[in-house]
Amino acid sequence: MVVALVPYPARARAGRPWRAEDIKDNPFTLGVASGDALPDSVVLWTRLAPRPYEPGQGLPQTGSVPVDWEVAEDEKYSRVVGRGTVQADARDNYSVHVDARGLSPARTYWYRFRTGGWTSPTGRTRTTPATTATVARMRLGLTSCQQYDEGYYTAHQHLAGEDLDAVFFVGDYIYENAIGPQAGSRVYTGDRRLPEVFGHECVTLDDYRLRYALHKSDPDLQAAHAAHPWYVTWDDHEVENNYAGAVSQDAVPPAQFLQRRAAAYQAYWENMPLRPDRRPNGSALPLYRRFHFGRLAQFDILDTRQYRDDQAYGDGWRQPGPESENPSRTLLGAQQEGWLYAGFGSSTATWNVIPQQVAFCRRRLSAQGSPLSMDAWDGYPANRTRLLQAARTAGITNLMVLSGDSHINLAMDIKDDFDNPASATRGVEILGTSTSSGADGLEKPEDWEALLRVNPHMKYYAKRRGHVVITLTPTEARADFRTLPYVTRPGAPITTTASLICPASHPGFTPA
Ligand code: FE
Ligand code: CA
Repeated sequence: MVVALVPYPARARAGRPWRAEDIKDNPFTLGVASGDALPDSVVLWTRLAPRPYEPGQGLPQTGSVPVDWEVAEDEKYSRVVGRGTVQADARDNYSVHVDARGLSPARTYWYRFRTGGWTSPTGRTRTTPATTATVARMRLGLTSCQQYDEGYYTAHQHLAGEDLDAVFFVGDYIYENAIGPQAGSRVYTGDRRLPEVFGHECVTLDDYRLRYALHKSDPDLQAAHAAHPWYVTWDDHEVENNYAGAVSQDAVPPAQFLQRRAAAYQAYWENMPLRPDRRPNGSALPLYRRFHFGRLAQFDILDTRQYRDDQAYGDGWRQPGPESENPSRTLLGAQQEGWLYAGFGSSTATWNVIPQQVAFCRRRLSAQGSPLSMDAWDGYPANRTRLLQAARTAGITNLMVLSGDSHINLAMDIKDDFDNPASATRGVEILGTSTSSGADGLEKPEDWEALLRVNPHMKYYAKRRGHVVITLTPTEARADFRTLPYVTRPGAPITTTASLICPASHPGFTPA
C-alpha cells in the first residue's frame, strides 16, 4: 500500500520552487530523525543544510525545493509502504516534517529522503501498539541536557545501540549561552568543530538555527535519532536559562522577550520530529501532548516553561514561604492542568508516565530550614498537590514522573507527605542525568551521604553522565541507570551503575 502524497504543512503556500539539481554539496549534514509515533503514523524529519554553520546554510534565502521521502518495512527498501514529495521551504530553514500515515501498529520501519542527486542516511523508527493492545513489555530511554562544549555525546552513541521502543528527551537540547574560547567556556572539541559564530548568546532566529545545526552535526546525536523514534519536550535553555512564561531572567520587557521566545520556538519546531500542525504561532507552541503504548502505558508529555508563573523569591534555592506556597500558583497553566487531569480521568493504562522537565519530588539540602529549588516543582507546591489529588481522584495509584534539568541521577518515591516517610507512596520519579552538561561527574558526589539522609524518599543519587533505560511490564517497572566514567574524552564505555524496581501494584523503588 502506498501512502498518498502528504501536503506540506498548512500555510499560505510554499515559496517559488527552485531546482534540486542546483544543490551542489550534500544537504543531509544534520542527519534524520523520527518521533511522535502513533499506531498508524510517525513523523519523519530532516533539514537541508549543505553549509550548516553559515546563516542561510548555503541555500537560496527564498523559495522551496522538492524533497522525496520513503518508508519501508526493510532496511533495503524492497518493501516500500509509503512515499511522497514535500516542499522544503526557506521560511522553515528547509526543514522537512512528514507525517507518514497508513502504517501498521507496533512495527519497525526504515525511512530516508532524497533531493537532487543526494540521498540521506537511513533512519529506523517504530509505530506504537494499537491503543487497545495488551503489551507485555516496553523499553524506553530517558535523556536530556546536551551542553555541546562540556562533553562528548558518548551516551548517545550507546543510546543508539540500546534495544528501545522510544526515546524521551526532556529538555536542554541546546544551550543558548555564548560558547567557545572567547566566551571563556571549556571546549571539548576534538574533531567537533566550533566556529566563532557561536561566541555570543542566542537571541535571533539565525542564532538559534545555527545553534541547532551545531548540536545536530554531532555524529553520536545523529546515530541516536536514526536508531529510535524520539518524543521530545523542552526545558529552559532552548530559549533562555530559567525563563518563566513571558518573563526573562534579565530585566527585559515581556513583549521584547516574547519576540525572542518566538524565534527560539520556531527554531525548535524546525529542528524536532514534531508534526506539521505543531508549528508555532508567533510566541506560542503548544507542546504538551499524549501518547499511548497499548494498555500498558499512557504518556502525558508536559511543558513546564511556556505557561508557568514567575519563580518565587527571585528564583534560585530559597526558603519556601507564602510567596512560593501561594495556592493559586501554577507551573503548568490552567489549560494544561485541565487537559492533564481530564487525561487521568480517561486513562486505562497500567502506567501513567509523565515525561517533563524539572524535579517533581521535594529535594532538601539539610534536615532543618533547607532552601528549596524555586525553579522546580518545589517552587510550585500547590500545583504538585493539585496534580497528585487529580491522580488520586481518577484512581491512579502509580504515577511515574520522568524529569531532567539537574544533571544528576535520582530515583525517588513520590510521597503524600514528604515530611512523613510513613505516608502513602503515590508513584515514583526518575530524574535522568545529563548527556554532557556538567562535564565528567562522580558516581558519589561530595553531598551524596547528606542528601540521601535528609531525603528518605530518595532511593538513588549519583552524578555521572549517561541515560536511563526504563522497562515497563504489566507487573513492574525497572530503571537501569546507564552511566559513563567520563565525557571530556570520546569513547567511554557504558555500564549500569544502579537498577531499581517498582511494582505496579504498590509503588516505591527498591534495588533490583
Ligand atoms: Fe540542563
Ligand atoms: Ca534546565
